[in-house]
Amino acid sequence: MTEPPELRQDLTGIPSYRAGQRAEGKQGDVFSLASNETVYGPLPGVMHAAQARVESSHRYPDPGSSKLLAELANKHGVEEDWISTGTGSVAICQQAVVASCSPGDEVMFAWRSFEAYPIITKLASARAIQVPLLPDGRHDLDLMSKSITDRTRVVFICTPNNPTGPCVPETELEDFLAAAPSRVLIVLDEAYYEFAHASKDAAEQVDGIEIAKRRSNVLALRTFSKAYGLAGLRVGYGIANPATTKSLRKAALPFGVSAVAQAAAVASLAAEDTMWQRVHEVVAERDRVVAEARNLGWEIPQARGNYYWLPLGERTLDFAQACVSRGVTVRAFPDEGARVTVGETEANNRVLDVLNSGFPQR
Ligand code: PMP
Repeated sequence: MTEPPELRQDLTGIPSYRAGQRAEGKQGDVFSLASNETVYGPLPGVMHAAQARVESSHRYPDPGSSKLLAELANKHGVEEDWISTGTGSVAICQQAVVASCSPGDEVMFAWRSFEAYPIITKLASARAIQVPLLPDGRHDLDLMSKSITDRTRVVFICTPNNPTGPCVPETELEDFLAAAPSRVLIVLDEAYYEFAHASKDAAEQVDGIEIAKRRSNVLALRTFSKAYGLAGLRVGYGIANPATTKSLRKAALPFGVSAVAQAAAVASLAAEDTMWQRVHEVVAERDRVVAEARNLGWEIPQARGNYYWLPLGERTLDFAQACVSRGVTVRAFPDEGARVTVGETEANNRVLDVLNSGFPQR
């Protein structure tokens, strides 16, 4: 064997994306609460639409996702040239960084937040500026504002924040946006938008798309992976002014969104009533579980996605292990905390049992 080729030296310093652990065992006995998926299958009509498109899989997909774009334009009240699509909204995060940054430029985000941000930033040879969250898991927008420099090109604001759960309050966000230089692209990552908007304080939640309509340096991100239940098919989209969108589209992989995924997304939009019903069920279950866990004495920050955060510090891995022994995987961030998706009632109750047991150290 000859030597492998010389690849980038700095790749060793870039973490690999860590997907949530899958529970191993018989379905119904074990549960995965590690990836913020929903428990429902695809929405009504989706299987049929997707299968119909499989038949012409020898053809490339529509590169511009035109049917999907038309539906999304109609739904959000924007022209189609405001919308970019990608293989999940994570792809648009990458497009935003690639389209904005030269080596050494800065990408800012709160930390801890969506773990793809630092990876995407470093792959683009940009510098990650990670601004610590406040103790209650919220963004420190004041500090983020003060941390903008001449090299800042992109700021990610994740609302609700993954993994800690809170949303950014509207007034704080508006102050931040008013102070930020307009040359900086502000990405409002709203992967869990629907869950926040089905929550009891929905009226106080921001709507990134409405903000993007009036502020030309804002890009709002949404996905079909969470509330719409299409995580396996990979479709997300961004809404921003046409000039930004043109650049984002340039940075996209050609034919990224498959024909099946496009068809499934269009069919999902036609089943929004069912989507909202499901989202309301998840939110009601989330509020039940969080209330019970708090009653047991656990501290949980505001939970506005389809998950909640347990700031367990050094007990995190013991908790995750105790969950695994009950047939449930959760997302553990060692020495920080665990993110638990709201899943099947049985699975949620098993986690509550673990919390009730106090999960003594191994
Ligand atoms: N943003 C956030 C905050 C997320 O949690 C996720 C998924 N975990 C994504 C974006 C990307 O999701 P997808 O690529 O499946 O749309």
